[in-house]
Amino acid sequence: MRTVATVAEVRAFTEALRRAGRSIGFVPTMGYLHDGHLSLMRRAREENDAVVASIFVNPTQFGPAEDLDRYPRDAEGDSAKCAAAGVDLLFMPTAQEMYGEGPTVSVTVDGLSDVLEGAVRPGHFRGVATVVAKLFHIVTPDRAYFGQKDYQQCVVIKRMVRGLDLNVEIAVQPTVREPDGLAMSSRNVYLDNEQRRRATSLYRALKAGEELARTGVREAEKVRQKMRALLLQEKDLAIDYAEVADPETLEPLEALSGKAVLLLAARVGATRLIDNLLIER
Ligand code: AMP
Repeated sequence: MRTVATVAEVRAFTEALRRAGRSIGFVPTMGYLHDGHLSLMRRAREENDAVVASIFVNPTQFGPAEDLDRYPRDAEGDSAKCAAAGVDLLFMPTAQEMYGEGPTVSVTVDGLSDVLEGAVRPGHFRGVATVVAKLFHIVTPDRAYFGQKDYQQCVVIKRMVRGLDLNVEIAVQPTVREPDGLAMSSRNVYLDNEQRRRATSLYRALKAGEELARTGVREAEKVRQKMRALLLQEKDLAIDYAEVADPETLEPLEALSGKAVLLLAARVGATRLIDNLLIER
């Protein structure tokens, strides 16, 4: 595996691959890698001739009061994990390399970016869409791999790809969980033992919502209430949202029929956690 820090080095690598007619799979991350990230890399390895991964804690997707400065980092450990997962090129740019000086250029995906996560984290998806668009231009992947864990991010990225006619296939992979159901996340490292236990209530709430739908309940509101009630049993847990939405438009649903996505965001202490589940009636 090669590790590079400049756009020019990535271009030299991927242009050679393109000339040789090789396909490129790409996995963008913010590092502090866990099995969720590695599942994306392994899938990329299976489906492409070459795999590029990036590790970049993108400042533009963090709000001013968020955890940019304390976001966990482990360049050495991450690099070993990428190599073991079959990554060919690891891109670890600085913020200066990605953004340089001067006026900013950004990509905005209207509507989808302002609800749910976007309502709680204004500007977050502008930062995400912008950095992913830039990385796509740099890496020129055939396929890019994202985790369902960040459901809204997947919807926003797919819309961006369509809106800008980017020539890349977006492959969404299932959420990888701990044995007790907690979705793996780099931010789980912030949780102490008691918080870690409380954090499992997100998955339990999603499963309770799913179960309610399975038993024939038609009102989405009842599912929202069920998920909320379960989360509210935990002390020191604040709900940001508990939603039942259309999986494509992310609009809140009134009636359950066909597909729906259950979406949760909550703060356990100072740690913000999100999770989701796709259901079908
Ligand atoms: P991040 O480093 O948090 O920006 O995540 C990088 C990529 O890994 C994103 O596409 C995430 O959706 C994905 N990812 C994060 N956690 C998980 C997980 N538990 N299961 C599957 N994919 C994940």
